[in-house]
Amino acid sequence: MTFLERTTDPRRLRHWEGTLEADYIYTSGLAGERFFTALRDDGRILASRCDACDLAYLPPRLFCERCFAELAAYDDVPATGRVEAVTVAHADRSGRPLPEPEAWALVSFRGIHGGLLHRLLVPAGKARAGLAVRPRIRPRAMRTGTIADIEGFEPA
Ligand SMILES: [Zn+2]
Repeated sequence: MTFLERTTDPRRLRHWEGTLEADYIYTSGLAGERFFTALRDDGRILASRCDACDLAYLPPRLFCERCFAELAAYDDVPATGRVEAVTVAHADRSGRPLPEPEAWALVSFRGIHGGLLHRLLVPAGKARAGLAVRPRIRPRAMRTGTIADIEGFEPA
């Protein structure tokens, strides 16, 4: 076959069948590592801040999305956040029905760009946008340095 001919039958191409091992490790990056370390060790939720743009980011970013400056300043998010959107889950991630429906929410904080998606610790029927919430952090001995160190968000 020359390069001027079109392939219409992939079985005519020379090929080998086999498997290709492909393993990936996804790291949280420098800003993410700082976020999870502060959450695990101190029970704090940090946002990175760009003073030039007067903008803070959650989850924290290493670089400002507007001016591309490297961000080295971190602040605690306010104690209270706001539910922006909710959804109710009736099955777990394996598809098995949950004993009780669970509410999940996008929570934002005043003055901070972004937010966190997390469990909303209210009965599913009471989950609504606009709710003022605060994080419930797991006891220090139970923290592992993951987003699960936040048990969820409860009404403030
Ligand atoms: Zn900036």
